[in-house]
Amino acid sequence: MNEIYAGVDLGGTTAKIGLFKKEGFLIRKWEIPTRKEDGGKHVSPDIAASIRKAMAEEGIPMEALAGAGIGVPGPILPDGYVEIIVNIGMRDWNPVKELSELLGGIPVKGANDANIAALGEMWQGGGKGHKDVVAITLGTGVGGGVIVDGHIVPGSHGMGGEVGHMVMDWQWPEPEACNCGNYGCLEQIASATGIVRIARRFMRKQDTPSVLRKADPLTAKAVFDAAKAGDELAEQVADYCMMYLARALSYISQVVDPEIFVIGGGVAKAGDYLLELVRKHFEPMITLIRGNAQLALATLGNDAGIYGAAKLAIDG
Ligand SMILES: [Zn+2]
Repeated sequence: MNEIYAGVDLGGTTAKIGLFKKEGFLIRKWEIPTRKEDGGKHVSPDIAASIRKAMAEEGIPMEALAGAGIGVPGPILPDGYVEIIVNIGMRDWNPVKELSELLGGIPVKGANDANIAALGEMWQGGGKGHKDVVAITLGTGVGGGVIVDGHIVPGSHGMGGEVGHMVMDWQWPEPEACNCGNYGCLEQIASATGIVRIARRFMRKQDTPSVLRKADPLTAKAVFDAAKAGDELAEQVADYCMMYLARALSYISQVVDPEIFVIGGGVAKAGDYLLELVRKHFEPMITLIRGNAQLALATLGNDAGIYGAAKLAIDG
């Protein structure tokens, strides 16, 4: 019998779930609402019941389910213990233990959502064919995952790969605080909200005419679209923000020396234009590593998490 693996990507609004064959074929994917009431005690039973139902509908016996993986939106310790998930309101939870019990004792593995997304991109996405991959997600915030020799680096507190809160510039000085309470984090410069913040700052400090002055709403996409069209101020903003991203990649390169960086999230929809900007700044910063890390775009979008969670289960 072919072994089947379930990949779960738990979010604050929905849980995305996929059933996979071992070689990476996605049999089926779906979403269920994340029920936050009663301190989140329905979350694991809902996921398990949904997996059982989907297996039955596919005509696959439960004995074929060889393992499951789950990504959670917060730090998770190696034994599956989660102290708190802020956006679901859960405390003292062990989704790994609960899901294993609810699914008949199969092995279950857990990791944080940014890390499973990175593993998914390594397995079947922009980093396919590589084992040393760093994935960076440029969304509302900046997330990341570090994969070394095919395995997530979760860190001792489950905070491995939290590249968004690397402090890039103490000298700036940065007057506004990051969500984490620090000042000058990468997330404040290279996230979608960070790019808009920088654009507003550039507009205040100079008189250069720009389509961005009339953009409503002003978004990171508007900045990149204008930059691509040759708007001088937008070009300056995009260049500045991607220079800081390149600097962060250079720091990461010196620590883990990945084969490839995979860049995803809403901001990365700017595509090759964004990659070229990052590459222009990144390559001169790396002098010691012969043959720089490649830069690529993520390809799995919102499915990266379920792929990575399944891969986590497959690798045991
Ligand atoms: Zn921060």
